[in-house]
Amino acid sequence: MKVYVESESCIGCGLCVSLCPEAFKMDNSGKSETKTDKFGNLEPEIKQCVESCPVNAIKVEE
Ligand code: SF4
Repeated sequence: MKVYVESESCIGCGLCVSLCPEAFKMDNSGKSETKTDKFGNLEPEIKQCVESCPVNAIKVEE
């Protein structure tokens, strides 16, 4: 599974970081980014982040 944040879309609300701090963190410009490329057992949390992001900035590729 590949997960990334479209930084041009992210509005920096912080929701994904709150929901899944194991996978996301805020970068220096106040936008979210992934903090790992190993998402093995985080799939449910990441799906919740994808569905919750207000601007659909989180993308998942199988
Ligand atoms: S939930 Fe979406 S808009 Fe909010 S910080 Fe995460 S990626 Fe950015």
